[in-house]
Amino acid sequence: MACPPPPPPQSPGRSHEPAPVAPGPDVLVAGGGLAALCAALAARRKGARVWLVDAAPPILRGGNTRHARNMRVAHDGPSALVPDAYSVAAFAADLRRADPAADPALVETLAADSVDLPRWLAGQGVAFQPRADGMIPYSRRTVFLLGGGTAMVNALYRTAMALGVRVRHDTRVEAVTPEGRVTLRRGEARSTVAAHAVVVATGGFQANRRWLAEAFGPDAVGFVNRGTPHADGALLRALLEAGAAPVGEAAHAHIVAVDARSPADDGGIVTRADGMPWGLVLDRDGRPVDDGAHETGSARYSAWGRLVAGCPGALAHVILDAAGVARLGRRVYPPETMPDTDTLARALALDPGALAATLDRAGPAGGPPWHVIPIRPGITFTGLGVRVDAEGRVRDGAGETMPGLFAAGMIMAPGVLGGRYLSGTALTISAVFGRRAGEAAARHAFA
Ligand SMILES: Cc1cc2nc3c(=O)[nH]c(=O)nc-3n(C[C@H](O)[C@H](O)[C@H](O)COP(=O)(O)OP(=O)(O)OC[C@H]3O[C@@H](n4cnc5c(N)ncnc54)[C@H](O)[C@@H]3O)c2cc1C
Repeated sequence: MACPPPPPPQSPGRSHEPAPVAPGPDVLVAGGGLAALCAALAARRKGARVWLVDAAPPILRGGNTRHARNMRVAHDGPSALVPDAYSVAAFAADLRRADPAADPALVETLAADSVDLPRWLAGQGVAFQPRADGMIPYSRRTVFLLGGGTAMVNALYRTAMALGVRVRHDTRVEAVTPEGRVTLRRGEARSTVAAHAVVVATGGFQANRRWLAEAFGPDAVGFVNRGTPHADGALLRALLEAGAAPVGEAAHAHIVAVDARSPADDGGIVTRADGMPWGLVLDRDGRPVDDGAHETGSARYSAWGRLVAGCPGALAHVILDAAGVARLGRRVYPPETMPDTDTLARALALDPGALAATLDRAGPAGGPPWHVIPIRPGITFTGLGVRVDAEGRVRDGAGETMPGLFAAGMIMAPGVLGGRYLSGTALTISAVFGRRAGEAAARHAFA
């Protein structure tokens, strides 16, 4: 089905005048990650004319989804993709344990719909890593993407475009009204189109340092954003200001410890820092930081992410001896080596005497040379969103649905995910609720 041509851009110099409204698609999807792609595909397969509008340029398409690798799914027994069994009831119970306040309808829906996800995504061209390849770690709860998130994103874009979904990159959705008026901005050019239904799948606000500072305090300007620089939360804020009911907390986020030398945005999984359990961690002022539990399992990354987020300047240093550094394995950012304590004190701008006393008391037993890793909080996604029902319909403060407005992915995930994150659940939320929101939006458009 051919889509109509895009409306002519409005002259930037006349943006104060009411914008003419051009006809748009049946379903306009804002965003370009997994939730948006699933919504676009599901709506298109229901016969809707669909536009997918993404702020990122083509080279950065796929949002945070590009960085992901495994997805949590319930299943009755072993298969080519996943061993043993993980029942729908067990998945739902894990979600409830992680967040007793999670919306029960969303929890039940997520766990039940996860069963069909590998089959449905495979039908959209996504390939999974077979267990027989011996390339993936044992995981009874998650399936792994062959080629990771980037391969999945590429497959979904290919299928969407082949089906006639019209993809517009480098285009921000600036505003959405419940009546389906959507303001688009490409460079300096603005235009307004009328869509029958809109699915907002623009992720969290983890790239917006000013909002992070409002939520977490001024040191949050130094947080590293592990994913897309386009997740600025502008549409989340716009929906909340338009009356959508909030869910979750702005000051909640999934945070892990990352190397402070990583890029401010989009460094992905390789920037995750390690070594904390085998060394001494000092805050910016030379005070030891302790996680209390001496966590050595995978929970250490997020435990230390939260700890360093609370340190002055959101900065800390891991100090290792030779034995500690031997346990690190190969790193994208190797530790810096300091021959003695005086050199270390100069590098960290600390008083040499006080540092020597701290190292004598609590430092690694092997002594110098010291190996140093600077760490910062690395934010994966934020914990404030809009409340939706199980079809992705956005609810207002009175609990009523806002007709024609749907949300999917991280922008509604705080209704299901609480303080404790379950690995692989973010992708499942994006796919399950993206698919549901797309189908519901198509139904709304044709009603
Ligand atoms: C390093 C890393 C590793 C991860 N690993 C895993 C994993 O293994 N398993 C897992 O389940 N989860 C993982 N996650 C989390 C998971 O990738 C995301 O939470 C999930 O993919 C989010 O999907 P989404 O569609 O909601 O958002 P995203 O994929 O982030 O997409 C948001 C999209 O919205 C676009 N956008 C933003 N604002 C606008 C606007 N105003 N107008 C138009 N477009 C806009 C962006 O360009 C982007 O394309 C990981 C995340 C990171 C950063």
